[in-house]
Amino acid sequence: MRTLWQYPSIVVSFLFLCFGFGMNDNARAQKLPLGFVYVDEVVPDIRTDLRYRLADNFVGATVDGYLGARALLTQPAAQALAKVQAELREQGLGLLIFDAYRPQRAVNHFARWAKDLSDTKMKQRYYPEVEKTELFSQGYIAGRSGHSRGSTVDLTLVSLTAPYGELDMGTFFDFFGERSWLDTKSLTAAQIHNRALLQQTMKKHGFSPYSKEWWHFTLSTEPFPDTYFDFEIRDDLSVQ
Ligand SMILES: [Zn+2]
Repeated sequence: MRTLWQYPSIVVSFLFLCFGFGMNDNARAQKLPLGFVYVDEVVPDIRTDLRYRLADNFVGATVDGYLGARALLTQPAAQALAKVQAELREQGLGLLIFDAYRPQRAVNHFARWAKDLSDTKMKQRYYPEVEKTELFSQGYIAGRSGHSRGSTVDLTLVSLTAPYGELDMGTFFDFFGERSWLDTKSLTAAQIHNRALLQQTMKKHGFSPYSKEWWHFTLSTEPFPDTYFDFEIRDDLSVQ
């Protein structure tokens, strides 16, 4: 009696089918949702430092869903940023993105972290004036974030000429406290000027600011106002 192994073509076909289906599943999982783009493909000279990808953030660890270093946004949000960048370029300035699209699982990670009152290792740097129990009630952390809708971005201004680097905004990114508010009174004239330039340029190209975080903006005409996405950030997602 002949066994299946004596029909190599059948065995090879079977293995190919198994492997082939596996590849298809994998490929499906690696696609960007329709309407999303890598920001650096729309704004090639934009700078990006996704702060939730490594440990220099208020959690003190890599945040769930940040497996890549490239910022993702909806296409209209990225195109609006291209206009902001073009205007800034003429002044020797550019944008530095700290966060853009944020998976819902990352927001869930923030909520989990906020409930663990024993973990205060980043308090001194990121929230020295706010009790950890107050981060939710004061609006610094929420169960949902506009970032998961793909049209919200955290960013600052950088100088493209000497002296290079980030412009002084009075606080660094994700400082949870009154000095990060738009109406704070504790800024120098230079800090007021820098913040005003960022706010005015972003607003001019369709973004709305957030009163408690000078770095946070949402495209007013965002295409997915009610959808909270949860795909992982990776650097090699295929664009549809
Ligand atoms: Zn933000």
